[in-house]
Amino acid sequence: MITSLSDLEGIKGEYFYHLFSCSTRLWLYHRNVSGSPSNEHVLIGKYVDGSSFPREREKLVIEGICSIDFIRNEQGVQVHEVKKGRGDDIAQEMQVQYYMYVLGRVFSKEVSGFLHYPMKKEVREVKLDKEKVLNSIVEIRRITSSSCPPPQRKPICRGCSYAEVCWS
Ligand code: SF4
Repeated sequence: MITSLSDLEGIKGEYFYHLFSCSTRLWLYHRNVSGSPSNEHVLIGKYVDGSSFPREREKLVIEGICSIDFIRNEQGVQVHEVKKGRGDDIAQEMQVQYYMYVLGRVFSKEVSGFLHYPMKKEVREVKLDKEKVLNSIVEIRRITSSSCPPPQRKPICRGCSYAEVCWS
């Protein structure tokens, strides 16, 4: 049960992305295992992250929980997350849903969320499903406290920075 924000300490937004894309990646990330820093997808992601929305890019950091690309306060609090491309839609959405859930608790009000794809000039609204977020937290805790889930080949392995860890 989540009674205060401190109960979420150590559960970062990226955990949600990894949970819905690859549980092996979630486990490795949780153990601070580094992927390849020269991975092309990682480098493009960093470039897009650093070059988009320069006037608005003041990250909101809640230590150990959230590092949100930027927020706006227009018709309520809005979470904005920038991605290089539409990868796994559910994984990206769940990361934003978690941020919405956390900020909802911080501000005690409804929070809206948006995913931005600057390279495609697209923006997508995300809806919060609190129950799905809470169930995901349980699953994240289960996976990160168990032994490493064996890697399973999937299309995203080709661009994954952990490919060498899993497959060499
Ligand atoms: S290489 Fe594939 S199995 Fe390994 S962490 Fe990445 S996505 Fe998961």
